[in-house]
Amino acid sequence: MNDSKYEAVIGLEIHAQIATQSKMFCSCSSDSFESEPNENVCPICMGFPGQLPVINEEAVKKGVKASLALNCTVPEWSKFDRKNYFYPDLPKGFQISQYDQPLAETGWIEVDLDGEKKKIRIHRLHLEDDAGKLTHIPNGTLCDYNRSGVALMEIVSEPDMRNAKEAGAYARAMQAILRSVDASNADMEKGMMRFDASVSIRPKGDEKLYPRAEIKNLNSFRSLESAIAYEINRQIGLWEEGNPQSKEITVGWTDAKGKTYFLRDKEGADDYRYFPEPDLPPINVTADFIDEMKKELPELPSEKRERYLSDYGMSEAEALLVSNDTELADYFEQVVQISGDAKRSLTFVLTILLGFLKKNGLEVHESPVSAENLAELVKLVADGKISLNIAKGEVFEEMFETGKDAEAIVKAKGLEKMSDEGELEKICQEVIDENPQSIEDYKSGKEAAFFFLVGQVMKKTKGQADAKVATDILKKLVG
Ligand SMILES: [Zn+2]
Repeated sequence: MNDSKYEAVIGLEIHAQIATQSKMFCSCSSDSFESEPNENVCPICMGFPGQLPVINEEAVKKGVKASLALNCTVPEWSKFDRKNYFYPDLPKGFQISQYDQPLAETGWIEVDLDGEKKKIRIHRLHLEDDAGKLTHIPNGTLCDYNRSGVALMEIVSEPDMRNAKEAGAYARAMQAILRSVDASNADMEKGMMRFDASVSIRPKGDEKLYPRAEIKNLNSFRSLESAIAYEINRQIGLWEEGNPQSKEITVGWTDAKGKTYFLRDKEGADDYRYFPEPDLPPINVTADFIDEMKKELPELPSEKRERYLSDYGMSEAEALLVSNDTELADYFEQVVQISGDAKRSLTFVLTILLGFLKKNGLEVHESPVSAENLAELVKLVADGKISLNIAKGEVFEEMFETGKDAEAIVKAKGLEKMSDEGELEKICQEVIDENPQSIEDYKSGKEAAFFFLVGQVMKKTKGQADAKVATDILKKLVG
């Protein structure tokens, strides 16, 4: 790729399932993962004639909350429209969406790119309902309408991103924000957050937008970034051949092949014959309602990040990692609050706990070590009752395996730090007597020989000696 000559222009559409119990326009459950196919359906979400949809207020509320968190303007009135197309996953023959008067417009979020901040503008956020799920089998196609009618929000960015990494950072930030305000669980393995990415290329310095390719239905951060990177290279290849893409197209992506493939020419709004949904009233969002929602907004990930940098002395990368993960942030803050030691808590949560969780394929909420128990372990180290090595090793391992609390394990195994200096001095003397060569080496200026002696003391005490105290005693004895 020739970086100096071309520039990629990338915009994202994000579909996120709104965290509501019931669907967008009927009372069917929106949890399709616990159900048998076609269990959560009714005449409304199956599009039977004569049925009247009813707007899910909770979905509107969460849509407004998300809009405010994305710094969008929420107009007083918005409305629903029918987007007409025929496909077997769409029993109504149209999707209920919002066309020219969306729930919210013109917002922005700030994303963190290796410590540098970039503002990505949001074009609009609108509400709509989801389609069903088709499964193709050798003899035909299976239709499951559990997802049909589930509440979605679609968030459309401006084409402000310039490479795959920026798009990935934007998508991650969006997931963190939607989760923090409880607008969506945004669980990609369950299809609760999906991306369409528009990619076009232009000569650097050119302000014009050229025909784009829209990559449909990307359902992981990795696919998103890989598909965009692939598409950028493909289109730069076309420019280099002097034959740039001449019309807008829609493409798909296969992870297995690592390639985009042509689906169809891109549909325009005309193809859908939008018209106002006659069965639904407009949505009225009053100034009072917006004030109420603003009051309910929790601390947003970007605000958390600033606080972590200033209060806990985290690095940019640490602050980003913790603040973007609501579960992890809550867990971490609980550990800090109980232990009163932010620095040690960070070490235990980020390097030790996360390592164990990852190795065992567990999420933070599945951790066998509760925040209270981890805080207690941090306290034992902070108070000098056990050494850091013993805490990180034996004690934590057993806590993780058994879920027992730290103090019980330390007591049962007799792992308290050796605080009796007389006892420690005896052991230091033994080590000195057993290693005359090392003493000689140390006296002739070899520092390493001294560390060896400290190591021997630690070994004899099974790590229970305080290394600093042992060092002082050894120095005193060796003279
Ligand atoms: Zn229904």
